[in-house]
Amino acid sequence: MNIVLLGAPGAGKGTQAAKLVEEFQLPHISTGDMLRAAVKAGTPLGQKAKSYMDAGDLVPDDVIIGLVTERLQDADTQKGFILDGFPRTSAQAVALDAELSKLERPLDAALLIDVDPEVIVRRLTSRRMCKDCGYIGSVADETCPKCGGEMYQRDDDNEATVRNRLDVYEKSTSPLIDYYRGCDLLVSIDGDRDPQVVYADVKQALGL
Ligand code: AMP
Repeated sequence: MNIVLLGAPGAGKGTQAAKLVEEFQLPHISTGDMLRAAVKAGTPLGQKAKSYMDAGDLVPDDVIIGLVTERLQDADTQKGFILDGFPRTSAQAVALDAELSKLERPLDAALLIDVDPEVIVRRLTSRRMCKDCGYIGSVADETCPKCGGEMYQRDDDNEATVRNRLDVYEKSTSPLIDYYRGCDLLVSIDGDRDPQVVYADVKQALGL
């Protein structure tokens, strides 16, 4: 199953992707995670991406398209994949279509996790992640409930940056909802509910 996850930052894409990965063993291709790993490792890509990420702006299309195109050549993506945080612009969506048609592995669905922006601001500013396993929790988690690791706040989860990320989403990414609706691939789920309830709907919508 080849899936694109759509939705504003903090809508719960990462949480739903983690559940799908655990149950269906699909590779989770999160461009945000890939970029954060590059920043942590201090690679040239990380150095280039950091200032965009800290401001909540998008990393240039050519950089990110190259990263995903390369990842899609890996053998583990043959059985399917979950793309999380990509595409985020029309140029990225068009490039993805071109690459997948070259690989003869078309998308099965674009899954929109829909959440009101004000709910997102509250969610993101109280979000915490595990330094060791990437578990996504909240300010209430003093240590990671999964592995006991240290929880931290992402640099871009402060309120000013979150509001900019939401503006960027509205301008650059939300037009993709119509794009995928036009391709007859859009599936929309109300994400403002308990993650387990959202997940049940996700599976039903995808016919899993
Ligand atoms: P995320 O973890 O998906 O919220 O991504 C964190 C940050 O990484 C974003 O605010 C962007 O700066 C950058 N980023 C992630 N994915 C993309 C993408 N597809 N295009 C451009 N920038 C991206």
